[in-house]
Amino acid sequence: MKFADFGLAASIVKALEDVGYETPTPIQVQTIPHALKQRDILGIAQTGTGKTAAFTLPTLHKLEKGRARARMPRCLAVCPTRELAAQIAENVEIYGKYLKLEMALLIGGVSFGEQDAKLAKGVDILIATPGRLLDQFERGKILLTGVQTLIVDEADRMLDMGFIPSVEKIFNLTPFTRQVLFFSATMPPEIRSLVDRFLHQPVRIQLASKNKTADTVTQKIVRMPTSDARQKRTALRWIIDNCNVGNGIVFCNRKRDVDIVAQSLRVHGHSAAPIHGDLDQSQRTKTLEGFRNGDLKLLVASDVAARGLDIPEVTHVFNYDVPYYAEDYVHRIGRTGRAGRRGEAITLVTRLDDKSYAAILDLIKVDTIEALKIPGIKNFPKDSGRRAFRSSGRRKSHSSGFRKKTIHKPIK
Ligand code: AMP
Repeated sequence: MKFADFGLAASIVKALEDVGYETPTPIQVQTIPHALKQRDILGIAQTGTGKTAAFTLPTLHKLEKGRARARMPRCLAVCPTRELAAQIAENVEIYGKYLKLEMALLIGGVSFGEQDAKLAKGVDILIATPGRLLDQFERGKILLTGVQTLIVDEADRMLDMGFIPSVEKIFNLTPFTRQVLFFSATMPPEIRSLVDRFLHQPVRIQLASKNKTADTVTQKIVRMPTSDARQKRTALRWIIDNCNVGNGIVFCNRKRDVDIVAQSLRVHGHSAAPIHGDLDQSQRTKTLEGFRNGDLKLLVASDVAARGLDIPEVTHVFNYDVPYYAEDYVHRIGRTGRAGRRGEAITLVTRLDDKSYAAILDLIKVDTIEALKIPGIKNFPKDSGRRAFRSSGRRKSHSSGFRKKTIHKPIK
């Protein structure tokens, strides 16, 4: 199968040749022909499958004909984060480089003035996060009655972030006749209900079911003697020092720990930086650039921050924490072992994680994951007793009657 076989506009096929795509990925093979026939699509697929091109290519083909009117985008793409929006925009620019299409972005960190000027002239594609979009809609800056294609990307992540009421509103503001291209990595009940209410007899395309981990990823766990945070950080460093790491992502469950772990790695001479939703956009862009160009070796991330990031192949994924949701484990380790290359995923498991670990084994249908033994791990230094950088947040401090000045000891 070749891209030219879909009947896509020649200028799009040429742009694909320029970017070096030779064959469509499975999700593209399954999505593009139906999307070109104006069918609604329900794509259950994760990042890394080529889903962005799967919805962008047929949309560009459709937009090639016709022109946008002032404040009335013809295609609206809604997604959870500004990084994902930027990634969709990048795809549109690459595949649409020979088309004369106008695009605008309504996301945090991008000045509205410039985007508003574009909207006023008329844009073919508007890419937005739900809150920003509704803000501008309510200010009368956009009309959604001209939307012919509505793309919803990473719907389950929008659910996690509390955006579903906004997404419903957006569905209701666009014409009933629009085509919907809807993508989600998982299908929790709230998403199923949204699909049932707003999609018209969608073609359902499910790829590599969510419990699938790639054969190219070697999975290991480290059994932690305690859940002490300093002991975990020391174990993580031992792994990084001893496992031939080219580059890697360290996942933590909490934003606070993302910062602590990144700082601790740096204190110990590793090239590491945090990425999470509380960092400002320029900081995140800088960190990602560093990671992409190889200046930064370790990216410490939360699940929400990592989703939607176009991160290159990494040799290692480290789960500093066992994820709360078993599906997140599959997403996390899917960042390595891509495109047939080998990768390694190593997870620290404490007794407190037993339930979450069992849920992962259940999901990926294995009895156990090989344990990596770290010599002397029982004697690794512990935080216990120190208050400044406790990470579990479960223990209560025993405060004496008066307030003591907190001395922030350096993170070790
Ligand atoms: P996505 O799942 O949309 O995040 O895409 C994952 C990566 O695959 C992106 O870096 C795309 O540029 C790339 N990609 C998408 N489609 C193809 C293709 N047909 N051939 C080669 N690379 C592709």
